[in-house]
Amino acid sequence: MAGSRITAVTTVAGVIGWPARHSLSPALHNAAFAAAGADWVYVAFEVPPGGARGALEAMRALGIGGLSVTMPHKAEVADAVDALDPAAAALHSVNTVVREDDGSLTGHSTDGAGFVASLREAGVDPRGARVAVLGAGAAARAVVDALGRAGAAELVVVNRTPDAAERCAALAPVGRVAGPGPAAADAVREADLVVNATSVGMGSAELPLDARLLHAGHVVADLVYHPLRTALLDAAAAAGACTVDGLGMLVHQAALQQQLWLGVAPDAAVMRTAALRELAARPG
Ligand code: NDP
Repeated sequence: MAGSRITAVTTVAGVIGWPARHSLSPALHNAAFAAAGADWVYVAFEVPPGGARGALEAMRALGIGGLSVTMPHKAEVADAVDALDPAAAALHSVNTVVREDDGSLTGHSTDGAGFVASLREAGVDPRGARVAVLGAGAAARAVVDALGRAGAAELVVVNRTPDAAERCAALAPVGRVAGPGPAAADAVREADLVVNATSVGMGSAELPLDARLLHAGHVVADLVYHPLRTALLDAAAAAGACTVDGLGMLVHQAALQQQLWLGVAPDAAVMRTAALRELAARPG
């Protein structure tokens, strides 16, 4: 455990969020710091809405080595940092802050790249794929942006609220909206990759689509990771599809954060084991 020998020169990193106390990030990051022998420790900072700029000033003043950013601060941080990476600029959303050698702060968004890394880890290359993305919220936007950059051939966004779907699909040159109704069903049936980026299935056995649309030619990825084995992934496996769970995205967005802060890729398997241990200790 990184925190077992914290000294005067240990670098502090952390997550800002509201709430932050249920975050899995400390478990993932500290396990990887310890495995790498890095003299870093990662904590959670509960920062109320509107407090992100103050948190960034504290980062500068206290020499905090790296920050993760979660709800509701991602857009405010995008406004407050000195520079943005292309994904963070496109999404106007920052989940990672890097303190550069000159003291300036750069905002990155590693969620989408983390999702693509989780696909690749599962042996799935999104280049040339026809993709149906269910949902148009923050996670869906990161996924659409990243899959567009990764060379998906088609990105069809299916969402309950049409305006959000339009804004999400516009993030990729190959993005379009389908549905609701038969057009959405066709888009799912004809896709190579189906991504659930809605919150449907989180803490419940609900499905975000009609399971009869699933078939053995699909890769089905669920961003929901609590439960890890969602009803959607069970239905997909029953239909013969390849499945990718949501923990992969969580792990790889965190791994990319550590790579940005330390300049070396951490052991993603260590992070996944730590996350599984933490999830197993939680109810439901
Ligand atoms: P948002 O609140 O930004 O978006 C939620 C999306 O789900 C919207 O598109 C919303 O549709 C849709 N939705 C919610 N309820 C329903 C419903 N009953 N029927 C149909 N659609 C519904 O959330 P996020 O994008 O941040 O997160 C979405 C999910 O992804 C969550 O479960 C979250 O835990 C997970 N996630 C996982 C990550 C990982 O690392 N694995 C990272 C980030 C998120 P509408 O626009 O119509 O409201």
